[in-house]
This record gives sequence, C-alpha cells and structure tokens, in this order.
Amino acid sequence: MKIHSLYMFLFSVLLSACNTTPKYATFDEYPVYDGNDLELTYFPQSSAFRVWAPTASEVKLLLYDNGTEGGAYKTLDMNRSDQGTWTLTVNENLKGKFYTFQIKINEEWMDETPGMWVKATGVNGKRAAIIDFAETNPEGWENDKRPMLENFTDIMLYEVHVRDFSVSPNSGMKNKGKFLAFTERGTKNSAGEATGIDHLKELGVTHVHLLPSFDFASVDETKLKENKYNWGYDPVNYNVPEGSYSTNPYDPVVRIREFKQMVQSLHQSGIRVIMDVVYNHTAASENSHLNLLAPGYFYRINADSTWSNASGCGNETASERAMMRKFMIESVVYWATEYHVDGFRFDLMGIHDIETMNEIRAALDKIDPSIFVYGEGWTAAPSPLAEEKRAVKKNAKMLDNIAVFSDDIRDALKGSWMHAEIPGFVSGTDSLEESVKFGIVGGTQHPQVDYKKLIYSKAPYVNNPTQIINYVSCHDDMCLVDKLKESKPADATDEELIRFNKLAQTIVYTSQGVPFIYAGEELYRNKKGMHNTYQSPDSINQIDWNFKTTHKDIFDYYKGLITLRKNHAAFRIPTQEMIQKHLKFLDLLTPNVISYILSDHVNGDVWKDILVIYNGNRKAVTVQIPEGDWNLVCHDGVINLSGISVVNSTTFVVAPSSCSILYVK
Ligand code: CA
Repeated sequence: MKIHSLYMFLFSVLLSACNTTPKYATFDEYPVYDGNDLELTYFPQSSAFRVWAPTASEVKLLLYDNGTEGGAYKTLDMNRSDQGTWTLTVNENLKGKFYTFQIKINEEWMDETPGMWVKATGVNGKRAAIIDFAETNPEGWENDKRPMLENFTDIMLYEVHVRDFSVSPNSGMKNKGKFLAFTERGTKNSAGEATGIDHLKELGVTHVHLLPSFDFASVDETKLKENKYNWGYDPVNYNVPEGSYSTNPYDPVVRIREFKQMVQSLHQSGIRVIMDVVYNHTAASENSHLNLLAPGYFYRINADSTWSNASGCGNETASERAMMRKFMIESVVYWATEYHVDGFRFDLMGIHDIETMNEIRAALDKIDPSIFVYGEGWTAAPSPLAEEKRAVKKNAKMLDNIAVFSDDIRDALKGSWMHAEIPGFVSGTDSLEESVKFGIVGGTQHPQVDYKKLIYSKAPYVNNPTQIINYVSCHDDMCLVDKLKESKPADATDEELIRFNKLAQTIVYTSQGVPFIYAGEELYRNKKGMHNTYQSPDSINQIDWNFKTTHKDIFDYYKGLITLRKNHAAFRIPTQEMIQKHLKFLDLLTPNVISYILSDHVNGDVWKDILVIYNGNRKAVTVQIPEGDWNLVCHDGVINLSGISVVNSTTFVVAPSSCSILYVK
C-alpha cells in the first residue's frame, strides 16, 4: 500500500468511525476529483460506482429493477474514498438494472439522485440505468464521419426544435416529434414537395442546430399522449437525450440509439449536428441532481445567501468551481465522442467564465478542431461573478475560436427585440447603417465603420469573422414574419413585407461571419404573432410544410442565397485582415443605402469584383456605380447566378427594399 493510499485509508476509517461531515470554509477548499470514472463504470462482470459527495457523512447506493416503479431491491453503503468521492464495486452483471445515490449531510438524508454524470436513465430521468453502450450503436456507426468543413465561415446554421420539424400533419414523416424523423427520406408535403431531411439538403444548410435535446423537465415522458410542448430550457440530466423525443422513453437504450441514428442520418446527408447546451442553470434548485450531491457547490450564491439568478430561471451554475468546470468539459467531450456531435451552442454563455469556455475549446480541439462552439454573449439578469471574467460578447476577443451572436445586426435589421412595434433598417428606418455595416464586416475592426453609432456595442468585439453569428431571428421573441408585420409602417403592403423579409436574410447571408436562420423562415413561417412560444401548442410552433408550396418564391430566394454563399468564397472570408484589405464601402450619398465591393478574387472567389447594394428605403433609388461590365445576379427579389442582365452604365437603379448584387469577371 502506498503512503498516499494508506493515509486515505486511515482518513476514511477515522471519518466513518466518527460518522462526521467534513467541513470546508469555502467551496474552493472542496477536494477535486481528477479521475474520469465518476459515477459508473460498467463491465459485464462488475459495476464500479464512484460518486463525488465531499460533504456527505454517509452515502448509499440503491439498486432497482425498474426505472420508475417499485422500491430498491438492494441498498448498499458506499465507502469513503479519495478526493471527495465514495466508491463501491458490485461484482455481478447489473445490465438492465437502475440505481440512485443518496447522501447524508448533517444527520439528514437528502433525496435520491441518479447523479450528474449519469449517461442513461429510465423514464423522466429519475433513476440512472445500467446499460451496455455497445448496444446503443446503430448499424454502421463505426463508419460515421463528420462531413467536411474547412473554415467556420463556411458554416450555415439552421436552428430547429426536434418536435417542430416533423409534428405537422403535412410533414409526410412517420416519426412525428421524434429524433427518428431526421432519418426519414423521400418525405413530401401535400403538394408532393420534399420535406424533412430531403428539404434540408435541397436548401443547402451545412449545420442543423437542435434546440435542447438533452433530458429536460417540462414534458412528462409518461404522458406523451397529452402532446405537451416545451422548448426544453429546463435541464435535468445533461448527458442523457430527452426521452419524449424517443419512441420509448422507458427503455434507456432506445433514446440513445435513436439520437445516434439522427446524427448518422444527417451526416450521411452532408449535414453536421449542433446541440444547444444549457449548463447555465438547472430546472430544479434545492433538489437538482447536482445539488443533491454537494449542496450549494455547483451554484453561485448571492451575498445574502439567496440563489443568484443570472439565468432568470431561479438559479445559475458556477462554472468557475473546479468540479462544475470539469463537468462541463467532460460533458461536451462526451457528446462529441459518444454521439459524434459537431458543435455546441451555449445558452446564456455570458453566465460562464472565460477560462472554462477556453478549456472547453481546447478539449474539443483535441478531438477535432472543426467542432464549432458559439453562444449567447449575455445573461438574462445580473450575475455575482465579475463581468470581466465572464464570456459576454464584449469579452469575445478573449475567447479562443468561440463565436457569439450579434444582436447588433439582428436588431438593426428588424428593429428592437423588446419593442415589437419598432421597425428596423429593412423596413425603412433611418440611421441604422453603421450597425448593419458592423454585421457586414463580421463584427471585426474596419476603418469605415463608425462603432460609436452602433445600437448596442461601441466597439468591434471579435478577432475574426469566424467568431460572429449573423442572424435576424431565432426561436426567441417573434419570428421574422411576425416581427416585420407587427412593426410595419402603416401603409406597407403584404408585397412589401416580403421585400423586407428577403432583404433581411440577404444581408445575413452576404455578411461576413457565420449566418444563422430559424427553421421555417425559408417557408415564410409565422407564429400567429406570438412571442416566446416556449410552451405554445404545436399549432403555433410546428413547421407547416405546405408553406413550401404556397411561398415557393420565398423558398427559391432563400435557396438562391445559400447557393450564392456556398459558391462564392468572397462572402466567407475567414480573417479580419482579409476583410480590411478586400472589403471597401462605397459612399453613395443616399441615406439607408449601403454598398460595398469585395475585390480581387478575395478568398479565392471565381468572381473578380463583387458589388453589393442594400436599399433600405421603401422607394427605388438611383446610384452611381463604378465603371465596368457588371453582371447582375441578384435584383428586385430575384436571384439568378447565371445572370439576370449585363450592366454597363454607371447609373443604376436599385428596386425598393431590396438588394442588388453585381460582379465583374
Ligand atoms: Ca425529460
């Protein structure tokens, strides 16, 4: 026995003899476990349990036959081990069984918990499951590969809720509301046009970004017939897929296998998969699976001992504490390796500390540097952790290769997220040009942008355009169609609303950075004017696939934008330096008109010079353009990459509320 082990042995004997609860003056003094075998290591001949519960005086392991019903068939005492952990090995094959831990603190037994590192559960995630992960792999999983990706600026994100994607009666998909809907091919809407994964392929997006798909609380997995809906920002088990999206939430293997089938199918269609991760808070506070292991430790607490609440959901986690940091790093690594997930969108990333985010990036780089990481560079409410330590957008330059959403371009284009009635640049509002230009240069430093005039930020906040997400709408607040309608000038027609819509997304897809759309925007979806539909019924949230037929013009235009971006590297410049050198704004002397040239085959583009003009005015404008044999490829709401016409004159008319794109060979 080594001296260290002997010491630990004596220490544990002493503690268990006295049955005391170790006391630490601060959370920083808690011992840190540095192994990678927390909670369960399964072999057919034995299962080894190790739970981190440093302040417990006793810990029990409860074994069950069932994931939800009946009492424990066996209750075993765990033994104090090193670095705050408790261990026990059961020398029998426990496959198919379930377990929980229960810890005693200050003479009181806490509620049972499946732990926080738990990777498989029964229904509603209440009990951990013991399974053989080899049995969760779909056929051919060993050959599953991430589709090619060169630069982050080549990414085109498509944010979708698992249920919205397929639940509509006209989706043509059988597995409505399930992960498996993403494996169905040849599905069609009522008019026979492609839906589902075929539609995504036709549209051309590169990454599907799934709203929370880990195990969340708000949908009761035992009452799926009630069709309750939720976005899922209420985490229960971070390392387990959500049961309601599986075809059988009672069988712990099924949800895991079906999640993998979804990833495999998207990969086979050349589409990468991103998970929305919500490590910033848990659905429960006192009784969360984290808090039942080490009360208080995983959360930030206010000076007056109340739970701090930067998430606006009742609590906020403490990424700066060693074991929470370790958990977050290991969790994303787990999803990237076990499930082949290709990227992570951090909800309210501004709650997490910069050091943790950079360690996450470093850990993912070891697996594959093309895994994309981005997040919301803000919080929902104030946090007790100093702002200079947190991953908010103004600190984005300190984040290594991690992107942030640009609310500057978002609200410049469509108007305030908070005040639905306020219109933006695309609806004819004045004085938002600099914020739009900030988006065009991908949030980087550019000599022709006046940062003092931005609506939110007052300085460039990223090192390179790979660090900015350009968008005009997402699941939050109103979707684009509803927002443009709500904020429209009194005399604006329905035809104009379509112009505003196309102009907004044209700016998103032609700007430098990483473009992002909310699923269904390409079909002119609406949510009947509702804001934040996180628990609205399917009738509001579902993608109505027949819109693809009724709004064919919109779909063709969006598809055209995506093809333009895909075929033309000039819109995907990877560095700030290249943007500074090759992107020049023209001074057209007309308010609400922004124009720039991308010059000299930038980033290897086949087109020599590209002239882009956005007209935010509701009337046509005549502008002077440089001399040249210009080929017009986007004009008055139409995209045709083979060329609409040739323009030789230096006087050019841009249609109302629209974009014109011209190039010379
Ligand atoms: Ca759940």
